[in-house]
Amino acid sequence: MDVQLDNSAFIGTSATTTAAAATGTSRQLLNLQWLQGKVIDPIIESCPPLYLMSKNPATIDLKVLAYCLIDCIQRYVKRTPWYSLVKDYLFIMFLLKILSTIWFHVRVYGVIGSLRRTYKSNCKFLFKKLLNSPFLKSKVDKQVLKVTSSIEESLIKNDSTISQFPQLPSLGLTQDSVISQLDLLNEVLTHTEWEQGKVSGAVYHGGSDLIHLQSVAFEKYCVANQLHPDVFPAVRKMEAEVVSMILKLFHGPEETSCGTTTSGGTESLLLACLSAKMYGYEHKGITEPEMIIPKTAHAGFDKAAYYFGIKLHHVELDPVTFKVDLKKVEKFINKNTVLLVGSVPNFPHGIADDIEGLGKLALLNNIPLHVDCCLGSFIVAFMEKAGFNEDGQLPLSDFRVPGVTSISCDTHKYGFAPKGSSVIMYRNEDLRMHQYYINSEWTGGLYGSPTLAGSRPGALVVGCWATMINIGENGYIESCRSIVTATRKLKRYIDEKLPDLEILGDPKFSVLSFSSKVIDIYELSDRLTKKGWHLNSLQNPPALHLAVTRLTVNSIDSLCQLLSEEVNTMKLEVNSKPSPDGTSSLYGVAGSVQTAGVADRLIVAFLNALYKLKPDNDTHNDFEK
Ligand SMILES: *Cc1c(COP(=O)(O)O)cnc(C)c1O
Repeated sequence: MDVQLDNSAFIGTSATTTAAAATGTSRQLLNLQWLQGKVIDPIIESCPPLYLMSKNPATIDLKVLAYCLIDCIQRYVKRTPWYSLVKDYLFIMFLLKILSTIWFHVRVYGVIGSLRRTYKSNCKFLFKKLLNSPFLKSKVDKQVLKVTSSIEESLIKNDSTISQFPQLPSLGLTQDSVISQLDLLNEVLTHTEWEQGKVSGAVYHGGSDLIHLQSVAFEKYCVANQLHPDVFPAVRKMEAEVVSMILKLFHGPEETSCGTTTSGGTESLLLACLSAKMYGYEHKGITEPEMIIPKTAHAGFDKAAYYFGIKLHHVELDPVTFKVDLKKVEKFINKNTVLLVGSVPNFPHGIADDIEGLGKLALLNNIPLHVDCCLGSFIVAFMEKAGFNEDGQLPLSDFRVPGVTSISCDTHKYGFAPKGSSVIMYRNEDLRMHQYYINSEWTGGLYGSPTLAGSRPGALVVGCWATMINIGENGYIESCRSIVTATRKLKRYIDEKLPDLEILGDPKFSVLSFSSKVIDIYELSDRLTKKGWHLNSLQNPPALHLAVTRLTVNSIDSLCQLLSEEVNTMKLEVNSKPSPDGTSSLYGVAGSVQTAGVADRLIVAFLNALYKLKPDNDTHNDFEK
């Protein structure tokens, strides 16, 4: 160790080194020698680039710089009282936290993107405050009230010919009169005509014979409760078989895969997220969990994040394929990530994310991956058998993809089971265990519950089981074939005959969505509604979506016809503005930064209306007499 040589480097060329040399007393030099031997040289030697640089006299400043820095820190620590040290330490930690947050944002959104996001969220915040300020509040309230009234008006249907029950009847009605009430209600408060399949999704009908079978099943197991498998052993067996049948469809590993039934897709998603959160905590000590989901993932994931305190990152899509952008997913991955998500297909556009790509990312970073097959369910599982994979181009999306750890599949959608039925599957029992609730200290006894609910309606699982074994593989293959064929027919029609509409991405299953650069797509939706067709409105970008069901299959031609008529009429009236109380203005409110917060209030009004007996400012109501 030639200290002399290094000291000569000290008195070298740059200004910093001269300054450092000028302040150096012999005692500090002594310290520095020690430091050099024990700290600096080993670090430099262990790092080849640093070592090379230190050998190159032109870059020797690096070594000197490290010297000075450590010297500075040493002197600072020596002359600072302990309480200031603590204060400074906390401040530096705070600074580091902010810097690392900024760095994270710059890394995932870019500099411009980060600035834009910050600007937008600040604007939203300011406008929200502004709309709540005394100057504007009453004006905004008046507008909200107006829309609220129209929401209530359209939602709360009643009629003077039917009996009202705002409280219990003091004398119970006979069964005959209850049944006649049910019929009357159905007759007077007519539902949307879902029978011709004119409603997107919503009713996944398996035929009237099936409904009869489900009713019989329900009647036989009406009182069953899965919370008491000892009391209802038959229901336990059927539930286990439902899970097993679904696992087979998704190629769950024979030895390890497992699952539970749930009350629907949302519960399946909630449990997948809960399991991932607890698994991350147990196995990696993650206390600030984060999930990375495509922008198109179902709102159930946002709900899970809200319920379970998980930070959520929404990832942008590839602008051409509308699949989640894998490069962007990768940028979001960090030490707190507990779950990656892909949908097959997603609800908005009916597009499947690249599960094999996501699986690689998941394996590489040792993070669980959930595949949301709630919608895909019995369509995705039967694509190959229904003859839609002749070219072998259909990518894998189930447990055959190595990184996939959980999959959700709704039996109450394309499985045609009664509503309130879905399955969550896991690659192994350790993952499943983390969704369980276990309490061995409850005064009420040893308690364990596999899913969110306590008591569970066994009759629904029985209905699901009866449905599945009744339809069978042949039935599901047939329904998959007819539904996908009909969807592709509509897709081809739009592609070839309606140049003003644009299909988003290349949907392969039973759902598609389209937007337009020429006409107001929400206005088109309102026009279709007037003709009895209920498509779903999407935003960012504005588009409409249709989930084709078995009922839609026979109405596809009439939908093509209607679309063509409406689009052509709208093009002729291209200067007319969309109606002020239509879907277009509603989504205008939701999408605008200036009206941030107002859309939320309208959603609250909608939810409140569900539980009202009559509209708030109802002037012509005489039912309660
Ligand atoms: C329908 C759906 C769900 C779950 O919805 P539920 O209404 O709770 O059954 C989840 N993901 C996707 C993609 C869906 O389409």
